[in-house]
Amino acid sequence: MDNLIDGRAVAARVRADVAARVAALAERAGVTCGLATILVGDDPASHVYVGNKHKACQEAGMASFDIHLPADVSQEELHAKIDEVCADERIHGMIVQLPLPAHLDEDAALDRIVADKDADGLTVQSQGRLATLRPGPRPATPAGVMELLRAYDVELRGANAVVIGRSEIVGKPQAHLLLEQNCTVTICHSRTRDLPSITRQADILVAAVGRPEMLTAEHVSDDAVVIDVGINRLEKGLVGDVDFASVQPKARLITPVPGGVGPMTIAMLLRNTVIAANARLSSAN
Ligand code: NAP
Repeated sequence: MDNLIDGRAVAARVRADVAARVAALAERAGVTCGLATILVGDDPASHVYVGNKHKACQEAGMASFDIHLPADVSQEELHAKIDEVCADERIHGMIVQLPLPAHLDEDAALDRIVADKDADGLTVQSQGRLATLRPGPRPATPAGVMELLRAYDVELRGANAVVIGRSEIVGKPQAHLLLEQNCTVTICHSRTRDLPSITRQADILVAAVGRPEMLTAEHVSDDAVVIDVGINRLEKGLVGDVDFASVQPKARLITPVPGGVGPMTIAMLLRNTVIAANARLSSAN
């Protein structure tokens, strides 16, 4: 299959570049770049995601700070911990692992993160910077999609891009990032009428729905670039939002699940952190 986008290979290149920047920072300024994660509760999937982030940090030569809080932590205690991490000089980027337990206010927790340590790019300030096309950390998963498109030389200027999904984590920032690169962008969601008639106009189709194998050949035009952000756990294993078997033969390029967008998220998180560390150093000098 020569139309596969190899996310593992692109992510490895991003991580190698991060490792080089981390080493340069240590040599130039004696600074060890540090990322902190705050995990609340015992969700097994979240534990795996956080563990993978720490492993990636270590491989890139970064320090990582692994903070666990009990599932019944109060909003005030969570905010106090976020404040403590934000004030820690050794930490250049931080994330609060989502989802939080239902009694906690996620938006309030995210907005407690100071802008220059927002490694996930999800605070309202970072999202506002993206929406107004000002510099700032970009949300890791959609930024990873942009990196894949760049790595495969996909023409963005003037391309028709259709994003399915309008979440704050993927769909909306994805649309802004594509717009920033001069795509003509359409956002679809659960109330969109006649979805296939819109998605068939896409040169670049990004699926971020969370519905297993929902998009089939009828949704895709010949030679479209299809990016599948979806991660759905079925008995047969992980599948995306795209029905890979029927879409892959039509697509010019397509991401597999797993091995497409997934590996990019951590790579871009690390990149945001080393950029934040360099920015802190520049502002201190
Ligand atoms: P989400 O918050 O549940 O958003 C899903 C979006 O899909 C919503 O905007 C929803 O529309 C829309 N939608 C639902 N059913 C639809 C339908 N039948 N037709 C058209 N649109 C429909 O999910 P998310 O957080 O954005 O995540 C999306 C997927 O990406 C999930 O599978 C998630 O696991 C995956 N993900 C992967 C990564 C990664 O690292 N690769 C990172 C984050 C998320 P409404 O707004 O109208 O409800």
